[in-house]
Amino acid sequence: MDTTDTPTETGTSTATGTATGTATRSGRQRRLAAGAAATAVLAMAGACAADPPGTEAVLRTLAATVTAQPATTPPVTTEAEADGEIPDGRTLTPSDTGSPAVGNLDGPLREALQQAAVDARAKGIEMTVTSGWRSKAYQQRLLDRGVVTYGSLEQARKFVNTPEKSAHVSGKAVDVGPTSADYWLIQNGARYGLCQVYANEIWHFELLTTPGGTCPAPLPDAAG
Ligand SMILES: [Zn+2]
Repeated sequence: MDTTDTPTETGTSTATGTATGTATRSGRQRRLAAGAAATAVLAMAGACAADPPGTEAVLRTLAATVTAQPATTPPVTTEAEADGEIPDGRTLTPSDTGSPAVGNLDGPLREALQQAAVDARAKGIEMTVTSGWRSKAYQQRLLDRGVVTYGSLEQARKFVNTPEKSAHVSGKAVDVGPTSADYWLIQNGARYGLCQVYANEIWHFELLTTPGGTCPAPLPDAAG
């Protein structure tokens, strides 16, 4: 069985207590401190900080320029991205291998998806990756969030697998968007070996047959 998520499962999250998370969290704390300093700078300069869309970008710029940052400090988004999260507003294609969500997908799955994306584009459909490889920590966060959303672990498990069982964690599952691309892939994915796995998730695909083969019938949901 496998793991998946709802289309709305993007968003920010905080580090968990892993060794690497701890190491990078100190970097985040430094940046938060820098952000506070930048806020003070903004206030002193009489700048308007009441512009939500631009405020964060302004703070980041100020934090980078006003505060001396070590050259090795990663950008704010790196910690989450390293876990396979896709930042809000970022659109990934199957060719964006520089992002861990795509780059850490299992090679044969990624190559099949890339070929499918080329052929879909020829039909006027742009294929995006809405979720790909995920770290165990990220998968656990999704499951925790699912329990809150769906009210119980039993209900959440219909949409989100455990880190141990998730094919996203092993790099062997990918969530595809938009809906037009999902339906195209449901219709044509078997050409590349790509199959819809769960009846309740039109966006979740795995390599479950040989190219040109026949996909197995979808399971009802990830809890099966
Ligand atoms: Zn999925």
